[in-house]
Formats: sequence, C-alpha cells, structure tokens
Amino acid sequence: MPRTRQQNVLAAQWAPNGHSLGASDLTAPDNQVFGLNVFSPAVQRQRLPRDIFRRLQQTLARGEILDTSLADSVAQAMKDWALERGATHYTHWFQPLTGMTAEKHDSFYAPTGEGTALAEFSGKELIQGEPDASSFPTGGIRATFEARGYTAWDPTSPAFILENPNGAVLCIPTAFASWTGEALDHKIPLLRSMDALSKSAVRALRLFGDASAQRVFTTVGPEQEYFLIDEQFYFERPDLFTTGRTLFGAKPPKGHELDDHYFGSIPERILAYMLDTERELAKLGIPVKTRHNEVAPNQYEIAPVFENSNVGSDHQQLTMQIMQNVARRYRLVCLLHEKPFAGVNGSGKHNNWSMGTDTGKNLLDPGDTPHENLEFLFFCAAVIQAVNKHQGLLRASIASPGQDHRLGANEAPPAIISIFLGYQLEEVFEAIERGEAGETTPGSFLGLGTPVLPPLPMHGGDRNRTSPFAFTGNKFEFRALGSSMSPSFPNTVLNTIVAEAIDELATQLEDALQGGADLEAALRPILQRTYAANKQIVFGGDNYSEEWHAEAAKRGLLNLRATPDALPYLVNADAESMFSKYGVLSERELESRYEVFLEQYVTKLNIEAETAASIARTMLLPAAARYHAELLAAQLSDLAGETSELIERFTDAIRALESANLSENQPHDDVLEHARYMHDTVLPAMSDMRAAADRLEKVVADDLWPLPKYSEILFIK
Ligand code: ADP
Ligand code: MG
Repeated sequence: MPRTRQQNVLAAQWAPNGHSLGASDLTAPDNQVFGLNVFSPAVQRQRLPRDIFRRLQQTLARGEILDTSLADSVAQAMKDWALERGATHYTHWFQPLTGMTAEKHDSFYAPTGEGTALAEFSGKELIQGEPDASSFPTGGIRATFEARGYTAWDPTSPAFILENPNGAVLCIPTAFASWTGEALDHKIPLLRSMDALSKSAVRALRLFGDASAQRVFTTVGPEQEYFLIDEQFYFERPDLFTTGRTLFGAKPPKGHELDDHYFGSIPERILAYMLDTERELAKLGIPVKTRHNEVAPNQYEIAPVFENSNVGSDHQQLTMQIMQNVARRYRLVCLLHEKPFAGVNGSGKHNNWSMGTDTGKNLLDPGDTPHENLEFLFFCAAVIQAVNKHQGLLRASIASPGQDHRLGANEAPPAIISIFLGYQLEEVFEAIERGEAGETTPGSFLGLGTPVLPPLPMHGGDRNRTSPFAFTGNKFEFRALGSSMSPSFPNTVLNTIVAEAIDELATQLEDALQGGADLEAALRPILQRTYAANKQIVFGGDNYSEEWHAEAAKRGLLNLRATPDALPYLVNADAESMFSKYGVLSERELESRYEVFLEQYVTKLNIEAETAASIARTMLLPAAARYHAELLAAQLSDLAGETSELIERFTDAIRALESANLSENQPHDDVLEHARYMHDTVLPAMSDMRAAADRLEKVVADDLWPLPKYSEILFIK
C-alpha cells in the first residue's frame, strides 16, 4: 500500500517518555551517574581486600602478567557489585575480526537442586571463557588449527554493566585467541602494539635523561560523525536496513549548499537524544567532550575525552552501540555507515593520537624548555618517518567498501596519505634541514633565535581540514578513519610503525652519544637527515585540489583509491617484517587479517548488489510499470513513450547487474582477484542501474514511488 506524506510527517513526531530505561535519572546531575556502571579502580578499592587491590594495581601499572591467584578475590567482588546493580548474567565481551563486538551471556545463578539457585562466579570464569571460534572469521587460522578459541580477561579495561529495561549484564572486556595462541581479535594486537611502542619510547627517553618514566601509553580520542534519521524512513528502505546505506535516491533540490546545518542550533528531538546518549555513556565512565551539528543535513558529531588506546578503543565500540540503542528510544535510527547518502557528505572518525608517560608527560607536547623541545622534535621526526615509510599500510588499515565512497571524494581526506605539520612546525623542520640550526647560544632554541618553540596553534585558522594526518598542537589527528570502524586496527598500525621509527632513531642517537657528542649536537644531524629523507610526506596545502594529486604523483606518494588496491600493503615485506619483529602480528596472523578483510569486502558488495537488484525488480520496476500504465490509460502517449524508454534502460541495467553478481560469473580461486572483480565489474553495474532508477524517481508519480526520498529522510527532524 502506498505511503502518504502525512504518515511520514506524523512519524516524525516523537514521544520522549516512550521508554523507561534511563528516564528516571535523566535530570540527575552528571556527577551522580558518572561511572555508576563501571567496576572502576575506585570501586575496586572499596571492595577488594587492601592487599589484593594493591597487587592488582601494581600489575596493571607495570604491564605485567596477572597473578592468577588474584582472580578469585576479584571475581567475588565483581560479582557482588554486579548483583547489587541488578545484573543477572555476565558475558565476556570481545572484538572478533567482524569489526563488531561479541557477547555470550551466562547466568550467575546455578540451581542447587533444592528449588533454589546460588549465585556463582569464580576466578576461572572471570579469567577465561570458551566461545566457539568456528563462527568467527579467522582467515585461514581456523583451517589449519582447531576450531576452538578462548576469551581471556583484560584487567586493564574495566568491567561494566550494560542495562536493559528488563535487566542488566556484567560485561568483562576480554581478548579472543585460538588455543594455539593466535590472536583472533583486534584487542590482542593493539595491546601488543602498545607494549612495543612503550619499549621503544622508554628506551629513547632514557637517552634524553628521563630516568623516571616506566611506561609510555598511546592515547586515542576519536571524534565520531553520524547521521540520525527518522525510524520510519529507515524501515521503509530495505537498502538502509540491509546494507547501512541507500543504494538509490535522486539528489534532493536542497543539499548542504546553504551551509545552514553545520554548527547550527540543535533541534529538540536531536538534543534530547544527545543528552540521553551522554547520560548513558557517563554511566559507563565514558566522558563526552563535545557535540555539534556536522556539515550534512541530519549529520552530527560526538567526541569523548581521550584515554589510553586500549580503553579508548573499547569505549569507542561501546559508544557506537549506545548511540544506536538510544536512538530507537526517540524513534530515530543512528547511521554509522561511511556514506549513507550519495552526493551528501559522508561520515568519518578523527583519530586523535599521542603518546604519554606514566609520569604524565605528553611526548608530542612541545613543552616550555629547549630540552623538552628536543625531545618533542625527536618524537615528531619519528612519526614523520613512520608515516612516510608505511603510507600504504596506514591506508590499508582504514580500507573498507564504505570508505571507498568517501576517501578522495572532496569531502574527506584523499586516499593519498600526507602529513600537515602546520606552518610553524614545518618552518622549524625546514630550518633544521637547511642547517640553520647550527650554533646554539645560551637560551636559544637550536640556534633559531627563539628561546623555545612557540606554543603551536591547536585551534582556529591554522587548521587544515583537508589533511588525512595533521599535527594539532600536542597530538596527531589521523582523520581518514571510517565512521563505523573500530579504531583498534588503525591504532595497532600507528603504534607499531612509530615504535619502529623511534627505535631506529634511538639507535642512531645512541651511536652518536657514544661517540661523545652532547645531546643537541648528536640529535641535530639525525633530525636533519630524517626530515630530508621523509619530507615528501609533508604537505600543508589543499588536499582536495587537482594540483596536489599531480604533485603527490610526482613525489612518488601512493594513491590507493580502492580497498583492493590498498589491502595488499598489509602483507608486503616491510609490513610483515615489522609486525613480526615487534611481536605484534605473526606472519600467519597478518595473512589471516588480509584474507578476512578481502572476504568482507567481497561479501559486503555481494549483499549490496543483491539488495539493489531485488529492490529494483520488486519495488521500483513495478512502480514504474504502474505509472506507465496510468499514462497509457490517460492516453498521454508522449509521456508514456518517455517513461517506457527509461523503463527499458532500467530493465537492461538490472539484468546486467544480476548477471555480474551471479556467483558462476565471478572468479573464486583468488580472493584478491575476486575483490577486484567486485570493484571493477559489480560496482559499476550497480551505479549504472542506480542512475537509471534515480531518473525514474524524478518522473514516476510521487504516490507510487515506494522508497522515501532523500528530501524527506534528510530534512525531517
Ligand atoms: P581539536 O579542537 O583540536 O580537535 P580538541 O581538544 O577538541 O581538539 O580534541 C579533539 C579530540 O582530541 C578529543 O576527543 C580529545 O579528547 C582528543 N585529544 C586531546 N588530547 C589528546 C591526546 N593527547 N591524545 C589523544 N587524543 C587527544
Ligand atoms: Mg579535531
């Protein structure tokens, strides 16, 4: 039955009290709910025997292996706390290579046989679980090993309680591995990469005379973009609920040309949603820093306060889940896809990244003294070298079908990786390269005539929004992540490549110091060489411009436009030797990721193609045919002729897509070849068909067109 526009508008009205969860404390001040559902160090201090608490914290601070004798006490305290908070079940919460999180719930209660149940939860159950690994992607590891896998407690990421209107579940962050010890998830390599970076950075810090830092943590603060649309439109669009993006839709008469949405005032229903989401996140100990409208209509952004990479990545996964759950309370759907609407800005995730010591020093903060400046320039140079050397790997770490619609589309960073240092920092490195940093007079910074580096701008005009990798005052911002993506893998890559570069530069510095040079004299030529050898990656101009693409090609920078172009860089010789040298991913683990990511690419495009063809045949073609019949019945032969031409073209395009997506027409021997086929043959067939459908959308009677249009989806709030 055809919808009416009125139905849609009615659907857009909302009932803020249509849910019970969270409503009761919506007006409580933030400080009363913050961390309410987290088994935080503060809760642990209250509930654990003093000695156990102290030993646990020590283990965590030093990054040592957990003494399993602690587990029973912790489990007991965790269970009591969770039961008091209303939990009936617990789950090991983990991140398989699907990119989503997984849970398997077990009840705390075991029947006693006398008609009662006893709450049980032992250290063994805390430490280890056994989900069946065979249903998760393992990219070959499964084929050669047993199907069994196990989850292992990650005590460095606090356990938390997920509430539901009908109960609550204790979630224990865990790593997921095969019985042979191979990582089957995104957490294990991330933890290993944090260790690798810590070792390299502490080694370097010693050369700078820092004897107190024991550990260096990488930090992450992801800024998340998303769309909110009315629930009714979502459920009326099988493309949206099956693939996360619209596979059809003509450009609306009004887009973001007017720029009237960005940073505009937030509509009431949306603000109510944001407040509720932030309240839920606060309960989970996830502090939200900013919220605002984004560029596209119905597009928004949320940014948390940064945390260490492991906890920050767990929290980012939770944030995406909570954002989607809470939306439904307001009859909204939260879209995290990178490109839900063609021709409209897509969504990304800005990955703010830095390194900090356990003594509280940010290694990417220029500091206030010449000595701190030297240290800062050293770590900065390491990042520049790492990003230049491993451009392809970084690009591969953020590759997905959704991203292919966005990167390089003049709205997001291009597929070319480059670094924006900002005018001042670039000048400093240029001067060092020119050798102007020769003589150092007392109080002058590397002979540049300033006592110390000026504070580098963090905000405002000096920002280059088009750069995929930008220095922003005291951190780098890797801007090319996709909105739906777990930050774990890109950060694993970032940590490891920087660990390698720090190590290489530290070796050079060590050699020079052993030769008797003082720190500054030893460092100067290293900075000079490193910058000169890697400055091709530094670019301060407009990354969207044609000229940059030409210039980047001249410089020999990689421009990996699509996922099948990028993924092979995961497994090239440089990547393989680095990952195994730093113990982050073995060759087999790396290969398995490569396979899994390629398989996911193929599968996702298969699903898109099938969904598109089916909507075309069973929804759009019938609508067009009905309209055509109406025109004939009304004896409007001119119009009927036009329409029938469009219908014919559309029908041909449907057939072409169906044939391209037939399994027997696809290469199955090699998964990379298969991915290329999907990119080169199936995707173009989909866009052809879409173009024909979008023309029909503009012709067929509005009451017959079965899909809500962009103009409705994007502008009704
Ligand atoms: P900007 O306006 O330059 O983007 P903000 O201060 O608004 O900077 O921060 C943006 C994001 O960067 C926030 O999520 C914030 O927590 C994060 N961030 C700030 N400092 C760091 C850091 N040292 N490491 C990682 N992320 C950081
Ligand atoms: Mg930012």
